[in-house]
Amino acid sequence: MSMPKIQSLSLKAANIPLNRVVVGKVGTFENWAVIITEITCSDGTVGKGYIGPYLANYMPAIASTIKELFKNIVDREISPYQFYNEVMNSTSLMGRSGIAIYALAALDISLWDASSKMANEPLCVHLGGSVGPVKAYNSCGLWLDNNTNDSFEEAQKLINKGNFDILKIRLGRSNIDQDLNAIEAVKKALGKDNLLLCDFNQGYSLPDATHFLNILDNKGLYWFEEPIDYYNYDGYKELRNRMKTPIILGENFHGPDDAFRAMDQKICDFIMPDLMRICGVSGWMQTASIAAAYRIKMSSHLFPEVSAQLMRVTPTAHLCEWTDWAEPMLKDPYKLKDGNLIIPDIPGTGIDFKEDILEKYKINI
Ligand SMILES: [Mg+2]
Repeated sequence: MSMPKIQSLSLKAANIPLNRVVVGKVGTFENWAVIITEITCSDGTVGKGYIGPYLANYMPAIASTIKELFKNIVDREISPYQFYNEVMNSTSLMGRSGIAIYALAALDISLWDASSKMANEPLCVHLGGSVGPVKAYNSCGLWLDNNTNDSFEEAQKLINKGNFDILKIRLGRSNIDQDLNAIEAVKKALGKDNLLLCDFNQGYSLPDATHFLNILDNKGLYWFEEPIDYYNYDGYKELRNRMKTPIILGENFHGPDDAFRAMDQKICDFIMPDLMRICGVSGWMQTASIAAAYRIKMSSHLFPEVSAQLMRVTPTAHLCEWTDWAEPMLKDPYKLKDGNLIIPDIPGTGIDFKEDILEKYKINI
């Protein structure tokens, strides 16, 4: 059976304004820089996707890597896994992390969208799963700029947005009492039976993390996310041994290799890969199999649309991180119901873009 062939690639980039400014240990962000990848096939199918590599000034380098990788698939039949494996097995000159991974992810996401559109199925069905609700949490606020009163009010707003019962707060303020007050305020809004996650965005050194996490360890937080540098595996192992609260990391895994090493070395209790950095749908699926083998629960980081589809076929699926960052540019953002993301029952990933918004916030690449 012959499949349609891959014909052309269109790349666009934009700096989409955020509804809520991000104030974290990694910096302050008012926009989300995205690259849009659209692959047109011989039957007219257009596979669409986006990645969000944060740093607008680096977009031209990523875009040129995407274009270079695309040369390997033009005029070929669509087969996302095969292309992913070919690139991953031949990246020794570029490395299996960083820009090479981002570029491959951008193509991979669009190829899977095209492939599932050709099969006339939602992505999760195309991968062998079914359409259904995906348990999510609202991650759209509670940054480090909140004082106690702001935290209570913002938590209420975040809960009401989609009837959420799980929220995430960012911690690591210069004064631990401010963190403790913010936790108390959010817990008051959330109710004592609901889960509160927390994220340190790698803000602590290992000795400080040991000190401050000890204070926070009996506060009923559901997980400690990235307290120290993401690459300090020995440090994570030590923290995991010392703390009762589960440790999670994974948004900075570059490809399934990193995820495997983290799970093999038992440095965390949960993982939360990022669709772009884990290398798209193909990298996610490989990681999901590894997590299943280690019996480790797997959550997602950003990119709620494609991540929700993938959670439906992830054996240890845990919590989907929901943010509204992409909403201004999406024609039909996924709907929320009772703290779940609702996957649209249409072919592909359901991602399509508002051209006027992409044009308005365009970045030249
Ligand atoms: Mg995080």
